[in-house]
Amino acid sequence: MNTIPSSSTSVNTVPSPEGHGGPGFFATSLDKVVGLARKNSLWPLPFATSCCGIEFMATMAAHYDLGRFGSERLSFSPRQADLLMVMGTIAKKMAPVVRQVYEQMAEPRWVLAMGACASSGGIFDTYSVLQGIDRIVPVDVYIPGCPPRPEQVIDGILRIQDLVQNESLRRRNSPEYKALLEKYGMK
Ligand code: SF4
Repeated sequence: MNTIPSSSTSVNTVPSPEGHGGPGFFATSLDKVVGLARKNSLWPLPFATSCCGIEFMATMAAHYDLGRFGSERLSFSPRQADLLMVMGTIAKKMAPVVRQVYEQMAEPRWVLAMGACASSGGIFDTYSVLQGIDRIVPVDVYIPGCPPRPEQVIDGILRIQDLVQNESLRRRNSPEYKALLEKYGMK
């Protein structure tokens, strides 16, 4: 006799977006469907320079398993990534490289600053260290800590997912978004 393994009955599915349903149909808006798909299929580009990168590796590994949030496909090509994760000390000499990576990413793109160094320069208040990556690229979510624990990294990813799910499809063409990029000298 064939039986269904118990593990297959405990799979959690993503809740459906708000909408109207009935027998055999479900209707919602395009924004919500696209937001749901993007939220659960983020492709992060890890830009790791130091110790926070090791914490990120722990977050990716089996114990914390970022794949549970649909983000297990890391991209080391900016053109196939939509979430730039900057982790570690960014020297001023490296700042143009971070910015170039950001500019090579296609819209829509999001940025997560992981740890004190990426967020504010951390303990390295020196002439050679960039005092936060938001001086060169717009940041969506900051993760505090030195280093942040994997739980904090996961929390940061969840905050990014909230933004991604609820972002209007028109935001990237809005005057406010263009003004934001112009502040950074980008088009
Ligand atoms: S925030 Fe702390 S752990 Fe992270 S890169 Fe800086 S010094 Fe290292």
